[in-house]
Amino acid sequence: EAADDKGIKWGKAPCRYCGVGCCVLVGVKDGKIVATKGDPAGPVNKGLNCIKGYFLAKALYGKDRLTTPLIRKGNKMVPATWDEALDLIASKYKEAITNHGPDSVAIYGSGQWTVFEGYTAVKLFKGGIGTNNVEPNARLCMASAVVAFMNTFGSDEPMGCYDDLDIGDTFILWGANMAEAHPILFSRLIDNKLKNPKVKIIDIATRRTRTTQMADEYIAMQPQGDLAALNAIAHVILRDKLYDEAFVNKHVSFKRGTENQPYGLKDKEAPKEEPKPLTFEQYKELMKPFTPEWAEKLSGIPARKIEELARLYSDKSRKVNSLWTMGVNQHVRGVWVNNLIYNLHLLTGKIGKKGENPLSLTGQPSACGTAREVGTFAHRLPADMVVMNEAHRKKTAEIWGIDPKKISPKMGLHTIEMYRAIDRGELKCLWIQCTNPFQSIPNLSRYRKAAEARKAFIVVSDIYPTKSTEVADVILPSASWVEKEGMYGNTERRNQQWFKLVEPPGQAKEDTWQLIQLAKRLGMGHLFPYSEKGFYKEMWEEYRKFTIGTGKDLAPYEAYQKVRGLRWPVKANGQETRWRYVDFDDPYVKPGEGLKFYKAPGNKASIWFRPYEAPAESPDKDYPFWYCTGRLLEHWHTATMTGRVPELKRAMPEATLEMHPDDAKKLGIRNRDKVKVSSRRGSVILRAEINGRGKPEKGNVFTTFFDETKLINDLCIDAFDPLSKEPDFKKCAVKIEKA
Ligand code: SF4
Repeated sequence: EAADDKGIKWGKAPCRYCGVGCCVLVGVKDGKIVATKGDPAGPVNKGLNCIKGYFLAKALYGKDRLTTPLIRKGNKMVPATWDEALDLIASKYKEAITNHGPDSVAIYGSGQWTVFEGYTAVKLFKGGIGTNNVEPNARLCMASAVVAFMNTFGSDEPMGCYDDLDIGDTFILWGANMAEAHPILFSRLIDNKLKNPKVKIIDIATRRTRTTQMADEYIAMQPQGDLAALNAIAHVILRDKLYDEAFVNKHVSFKRGTENQPYGLKDKEAPKEEPKPLTFEQYKELMKPFTPEWAEKLSGIPARKIEELARLYSDKSRKVNSLWTMGVNQHVRGVWVNNLIYNLHLLTGKIGKKGENPLSLTGQPSACGTAREVGTFAHRLPADMVVMNEAHRKKTAEIWGIDPKKISPKMGLHTIEMYRAIDRGELKCLWIQCTNPFQSIPNLSRYRKAAEARKAFIVVSDIYPTKSTEVADVILPSASWVEKEGMYGNTERRNQQWFKLVEPPGQAKEDTWQLIQLAKRLGMGHLFPYSEKGFYKEMWEEYRKFTIGTGKDLAPYEAYQKVRGLRWPVKANGQETRWRYVDFDDPYVKPGEGLKFYKAPGNKASIWFRPYEAPAESPDKDYPFWYCTGRLLEHWHTATMTGRVPELKRAMPEATLEMHPDDAKKLGIRNRDKVKVSSRRGSVILRAEINGRGKPEKGNVFTTFFDETKLINDLCIDAFDPLSKEPDFKKCAVKIEKA
């Protein structure tokens, strides 16, 4: 684009941070990013950015940017050339593969990887090295949503889109602090509310937040109470015949899962779920015990509120949407809670309509586009395919031009198992890109100790030093965001392309280049035959082949270069799809067919019977409080980038412990006092925050995990959902003492 009157050239890009995927304009002058602003042509945000988005430019220019490869010599990291670093990595990977087999090596990536980075990692490890040990940190945030999409609709990703936020009139938030975690989407909800007096926002959560301030109603819930409350809402809908019988008969089948799978606390796989079909009558019978009074005891939500919610969900005059994110997904029964939300929409027929859908919100900018669609999970291949399926391996091998036997049918190590395998001495080499697991994973000390004992050879590619680079054997300096060309995919299935706008600092290189250098040294360079000039386009066109004809169709690369993103499936005429499974928009549903869940068996979505079950750990006399960790507005994840922005650092310099005033009074704790918080796994010192921004319910405390001076997630339990393998960061037991 031409420079403006200040000599600044503006280029388009999606925001680097969250899953909302706001469109930004990036101002470049003299080879540096000098400004960013919300893109008025961006359909996601219509010119707005949250505070993180406004300071995007500064995130790239922290004083301690990594600019040269570093290799461990004893306790020191010393500068090295790229060749030295890459030769060392290749020799370690070769040695491990030769002596211990391909499953002794792994890569751990991110929902912040670009599509190209994720695709390169998947092709190299799954198609070249022959291991499925490829995992994204999205296991920690979206895995439960993915499993529920697959077992309910037969295809990952939502049927609705952000337009529902503008035209719906009822929004029920389950454990989602949208005002801080998805601020621009929340502003769309509020805009809708200002225009339409009918709009109702209901915030169901374990603490009052900024979201509560703008909601019409706040409903306090005890941790794990969602399992009980959602079942009881369905009970009332069934008891009072509030369901849409014609819809249910046409579009729904009923299933019962395996109810007694253990939470993943032991180093052992849970047995597989074996679903059993149910009739509607059998399902109704099973749901009879889940009365509102029963749910009140488990959830703390008054029975009359549950009755009201059942009536709201089934109100024919209302367009009802459910919204949720980590409160539901980071849960030892996260898949079940996702299923239970879908159950309400499927019973009442409030799905697949303009302005009326369940919408699972994502956390990272390409959790959908890269982590899920490209196949970076340990069990997946691109476009919803899985490594365990022979036909899927065959199709993948055909596109990649390799022998299908090269792709292992064995699921790789999921996140927690990956770090446990280091502790057991089974995983010999791990390359971490674009994420900071040694600050973010639960029960951190166990895994940090294993890494510090050098039980595995660890490579970390990042743009700044982090808690993960502290335990690395090799640190590689990465190019960030608009220092490379990229593509992200956001919550509403929108893929957004951007061009490289500035050079990375020093010797920093993009992660794709780094991986291909390893491929070349392992004799697998032929897997990446793309030309220098057409590199991204050629890789995209290869990846696109996986999607054509699947209902997830992507457009040719050039189409994305011209627009602010396209939502898939992209139609033959190049138009995007806003709502899936419906004849008014989805090209896979013929006119007149109405709604068709065409990816689900028999075109019917599944209603699952999912009972209540206690969490992996609950407060007791020794550890009497619930501990919950999450995000806040000013910082992104572990603050690797936002921590370098002085304005954001000043606004929120450290993590605090939000407490209920009655709990604080009982313990003699005043606002800003230092407190020691301990679980059975670790301790952390924090300042108490009483009646601050977030106000937890009595018996609950909350803190944020961005602060690298305190290993907040060390206290969290590493139990995980047996279906999704996603750990529960939202509930474990802690005690609190004055420090
Ligand atoms: Fe938008 Fe999220 Fe970026 Fe904020 S952090 S500007 S909400 S994409």
